[in-house]
Amino acid sequence: MFKTIKGTKDILPSEIHKWHYIETTLRRLFHRFGYQEIRTPVFEETALFQRGIGETTDIVGKEMYSFRPEESSPSLTLRPEMTASVMRAHLQHNLSNISATTKLFYISELFRKERPQAGRQRQFWQFGSECIGSQTPESDAETIALMMTIFKALGVKHSTLKINSLGDPESRLKYREQLQAYFKPHFDTLDDISKVRFETNPLRILDSKNPDLQTLIHDAPKLIDALDQDSMNYFQHVQSCLKAYSIDFEIDHRLVRGLDYYSHTAFELIGNELGAQNALAGGGRYDGLSKILGSKQLVPAVGFAAGIERLIITMDKLDLFSEIKPNAPTVYVVLQTKEAKTWAFKTVHQFRVKGIAAEIDLQERSMKAQMREANRLGAQYVLIVGQRELESQMYALKHLESSKQETLSLEDIETKLLNAIELCIA
Ligand code: AMP
Repeated sequence: MFKTIKGTKDILPSEIHKWHYIETTLRRLFHRFGYQEIRTPVFEETALFQRGIGETTDIVGKEMYSFRPEESSPSLTLRPEMTASVMRAHLQHNLSNISATTKLFYISELFRKERPQAGRQRQFWQFGSECIGSQTPESDAETIALMMTIFKALGVKHSTLKINSLGDPESRLKYREQLQAYFKPHFDTLDDISKVRFETNPLRILDSKNPDLQTLIHDAPKLIDALDQDSMNYFQHVQSCLKAYSIDFEIDHRLVRGLDYYSHTAFELIGNELGAQNALAGGGRYDGLSKILGSKQLVPAVGFAAGIERLIITMDKLDLFSEIKPNAPTVYVVLQTKEAKTWAFKTVHQFRVKGIAAEIDLQERSMKAQMREANRLGAQYVLIVGQRELESQMYALKHLESSKQETLSLEDIETKLLNAIELCIA
């Protein structure tokens, strides 16, 4: 027997209603904020991610699924994140010629060779947005507001939003030097990975979870103190927008994105219901990415990404799916006699063509078993048909929840079922 590969999961029919509910809510909210969907290929050139995510990151260093389809072809990689692909698509198709600001969203599966654990898979799903072309604090605030509105609409209300500012590239460079000067006298006490980061990317030492380093990290100079006036004003403006939108936040000085092309706003949404893997979503401004991907012009951009599996774990813990019913048939046609078979299958087909979700037994089971199945599926009505019904052309329609039964013509039944659907949609 074959089984799913470590770190991957089947999404079975018993779970799919959760995904549909989330995806429908996402599409509705993204559109409300003026975002259009983009779908990019599952694999791209490895170099796109090496440059777009950064050689010093764990993702590029050890988590990518890379392969060469032919010996002579460039190395390809299953996408481990979406931002580089979306920016590549934006540049390749000159989307800035169509509109100065392009607002894109995605719902995509990603691949990372991480050690699987609760909330961490090797194939997982993310949704997110990229607002490309605008370099205003309002676009940073809009991205955060969009993310928070989505989580709130889905019922995840008590998570913590952390924000920070990385300033402009000059402020970052100044801070990098300050950090190196601070850590230098303590170099021997750093762990191996932090020693490497001291050279390659000292900001990422602040990400360390090593308990022995926490006091040293706590006392490190703060990025915010290295910001120049313009960067400070930008950050203040983002904060006042968030306050105007009544979005609560905390400033977290340790929230740094280690890559050179990030600038200004960085943010993270921390879930209260998750264990070790508690980041629900993260994002920030990445003005420098376009140039790293080969664009002559700087194309400013800001975005966020959130994991769907972690969202589902959170929503399960908060019992947010209990009200959402899996797709259930409006009517289940129950056969009392074999003679009714031809009529019943034809009627079910007609119902379906007319827009009524109708179901019928394909196992030739007893009437009792058919009724049990109708209940299991959560059908609203059962239509019972036997010899008497066929002769009189009047059929028994039973509403399962109330057990109320009526005898009606097929035409009246159709009208009733269509009305029931309309009531559900309303
Ligand atoms: P990142 O792209 O690493 O900033 O992650 C953004 C979000 O994607 C996280 O907050 C998680 O919700 C989710 N995520 C990241 N890695 C994984 C993974 N291996 N498995 C499941 N979800 C993940």
